[in-house]
Amino acid sequence: MRAVRWYGAYDVRVEDVGEPRLTSERDAIIRPTFATICGTDLHIYRGEITLVPGNIIGHEFMGIVEKAGKEVKRFNEGDRVIVSAWIADGECWFCRRRLYTQCENINIFGMGPVYGESIDGAFAELVRVPNADTVLIKAPDGVPDEKLVLISDGLATGYDAVVNSGMEPGDVVAVIGCGPIGLLSGMCADILGASQVIAIDIVRERLEAASSLGFTTINASEVDVAEEVRKMTDGRGADVVIEAVGRTSEPLITAIEVARRKGTISVVGFHLHEYSIPTGQLWLSEKRMTFSIGDPIRNGEILIRYIKQGKLDPSRLITHRINIEEAPKGFEMFERKQSLKVAIEFRR
Ligand SMILES: [Zn+2]
Repeated sequence: MRAVRWYGAYDVRVEDVGEPRLTSERDAIIRPTFATICGTDLHIYRGEITLVPGNIIGHEFMGIVEKAGKEVKRFNEGDRVIVSAWIADGECWFCRRRLYTQCENINIFGMGPVYGESIDGAFAELVRVPNADTVLIKAPDGVPDEKLVLISDGLATGYDAVVNSGMEPGDVVAVIGCGPIGLLSGMCADILGASQVIAIDIVRERLEAASSLGFTTINASEVDVAEEVRKMTDGRGADVVIEAVGRTSEPLITAIEVARRKGTISVVGFHLHEYSIPTGQLWLSEKRMTFSIGDPIRNGEILIRYIKQGKLDPSRLITHRINIEEAPKGFEMFERKQSLKVAIEFRR
């Protein structure tokens, strides 16, 4: 079968590999129909996360159950499913409390040995899914893949960023970073009753995308962001600020400045490093910070409901469709910010 494998920074190749087999009766084999390149894949692509050369990458996907182990109770061959990017065991102390992202045996597709056992990724013609009863989400009939696939990771993450912030209807929500996660957070804030979503970025195309979703935009390369948000909020600042940039302290510090007193900074950007932030300012102004990784297992069903009701259409972010052979080109486009979301269609 064909699969997309990582060999080093800016080096991904499509190659022939052996087909996966069930290694436990709790596994299922999925034949992906639709997958998307996620921002986290970009960190791998750049070599910021180091895998073992030859690892199959990708984790945002859905497909058809090709084969299910004997202990898989909820799914059968032929079922159409969305696959949670995060693999939880469904049994530990955290899973029993539905805190799946902190599962004692947490893992993720396509990230090599970063989380222990290396689980092959989604950009392949067949994928082994461990703990299938927990990790798979039944896809509703009549809703196309393109609307559902982002539940696998990005949409669940954007939704968590909003829910974990404690946002209330009528709140003004500022989103720092208009990549897919920022825009999906904004869309979720919108359906959950934000009175205004203010989208902040420096890339013109991304601001245009935010604007097309009905958000107010601020180009951070042109104005002082905190001052601009205060102008829009009677001098207070935003009730909720979603930080969806990651990597450095800079967007976090901006988020703290943009939030009103007693407001919440919801951090959903990708942060692996330690840095200092203005704790004194946070304490004096009683601002709160929350952190979210995104939980497709917990949020899958409610997100399906919003999509079926027509309240949410994440497919609006998919700007490019390619086949699996074109994956290296898809990574290049995403890296150069020429695309918002690149989808791999397997039957293309
Ligand atoms: Zn667990």
